[in-house]
This record gives sequence, structure tokens and C-alpha cells, in this order.
Amino acid sequence: MPDLAYLNGEIMPIDQARVPIEDRGYQFADGVYEYIASYEGRLFRLEAHLDRLEHGLRELGYAPIPRPHLRSAIAELFQRAGYARAGIYIQITRGVAPRNHAFATTLTPQIVMTVREIKAIPADLRDNGIQTITVRDLRWSRCDIKTTQLLANCLAKQKALASGYYDAIFVSDQDIVREGTSSNVFAVSNGRLTTHPLTPHILPGITRMAILEICGEIGLEFSESFFTRENLYAADEVFLSGTVTEVLPVIGVDDRIIANGGVGPITRQLYAALGAKALDRPDVR
Ligand code: PMP
Repeated sequence: MPDLAYLNGEIMPIDQARVPIEDRGYQFADGVYEYIASYEGRLFRLEAHLDRLEHGLRELGYAPIPRPHLRSAIAELFQRAGYARAGIYIQITRGVAPRNHAFATTLTPQIVMTVREIKAIPADLRDNGIQTITVRDLRWSRCDIKTTQLLANCLAKQKALASGYYDAIFVSDQDIVREGTSSNVFAVSNGRLTTHPLTPHILPGITRMAILEICGEIGLEFSESFFTRENLYAADEVFLSGTVTEVLPVIGVDDRIIANGGVGPITRQLYAALGAKALDRPDVR
């Protein structure tokens, strides 16, 4: 099965999809995106992803796109590809126009999607955890909008890899721990989880939300509050959350080893619970 693209209503092999060079997404990163995963042939939390996508469209003043239109386009692409463990990338840009910072409010948004099979994160990393570095958060102050402007995220990830780490964690000028380059961050101390509150400085992760739900269900205490890099160093457990990341243990931050360098029991429990939730409560077939 080839990996497929959807381009304004048409489905084709990815390498045949073309967009005009004056798409504002290409020239200005004037676009929003989503990434949705399936488990055993069922998409996880489709509606939550569409809520977040619509939040971005609204905040940036794009012409609204009816949800049924998006839903049926996603469903068709997903079904045509037929992957049990699919990753669907959806990108909506403001439209195509001669290059100019100002934009007409009448532009037609361009909808592009791709579907590929998700490559599993190596079992060794899942079992034994990852090493991370912290980097200054150089991003703009509307990180709640999932825009395609990911240059700071790309550079931070690259810096981590180039220095032998798996990922980077953004911290503010005041050393507040924000989020990963493509994940949210949780610290566990004395059996209680802490994660950054929902502010414009982080993306409201769908997985983050699912984890907090699980905490409520299994009686784990949590708090959505600010914590510092020092708090992270001193935590009993640290993990990242995200659609592909799921729950990924962090055993090192900068030159510090978290707790004893092993993967903690709460991280393991939440990874298992998230997997079970993804299989139990599908949004669409
Ligand atoms: N923060 C950032 C910056 C991300 O790119 C992602 C991945 N989409 C997340 C958090 C996690 O979000 P989600 O759980 O919805 O994948």
C-alpha cells in the first residue's frame, strides 16, 4: 500500500502531490496542523484533534471549514490507506496569494493530508527511558495554536540529537519547564504528577488530557502548575506525552540522572493505561 496524500479533495500517492509556491504556508508558515494516530485500525480522539484544529483556525482568522467535511476527508484517506497503526498528518494553510504580509480575508484555505504507517519508538527506549537536554524556549507566545512554524522545535531536537540525547525540553527565561519539542512534560514527585498548566506557552496535548483523565479514573493525584528545571532534576519520575510518544520515560535531564536512572512505576502504569484507553474507547472505526 503506498503512503497517500489528500490535496484539496483528491487522494494520490504522496510523491505526486504538489502545492503552489505561493501557498502562504510555504512562504510564511501561515498554517495549522494536526497529527492523529490510529490503534488497531481506529483513530484515537479524532474529535479532540478537530477541536484543537478549529481553535487554531479561529484564532488565526481563517475561513471556517465545516467539521463534517474534514471528518469525511480524514475517514476516506484513512480507509484507503488501510493501516492499522496509521499516522494522519493534516495541514491547513490560509491559502495561495501573491507574496505579501497582509492577506485578503477571502482566501480559500488549502487542505493537505498525508497518511503513513507509524514507526514504533524502539522498545529499548520505551523500556529503559530516554536522555534529554533543556533548551531556552525561543518560540512565539501562542504555542497553544498548533502552527506549522516549528523551526525552534526542529533546531532544539537537532541540538539534542547532535549532542547524543534523544530530545529537548523547552524552559522559559525563568527556568519554568514548558514542554518537549513534540510532547508535553510530566514530573512525578511523592506520587503526585505535575504538568504545565494550559497557557499560551504550551500546546494543549490530547495525550496530556487523556493522562489527566486516567489519573482521575485511577486515583492518582495531579496538579497543573508551574515547575522549574530544578524541580525536574529532583523528580522521582519524568515522562513525555504525545500522540506518537504516548508515555515515554525520561531518565536523564541535562547532566542529571532522574532518581536512580530507572523507569518509575507510575510512568509504566500510565503507559499501560493509555494503551488500554486507546483500544477501549475509539472515536471512529
Ligand atoms: N507539544 C508539542 C509542541 C507538540 O508538537 C505535541 C505533539 N503534537 C505535543 C505537545 C503533544 O500533543 P498531542 O498529545 O496532542 O500529540
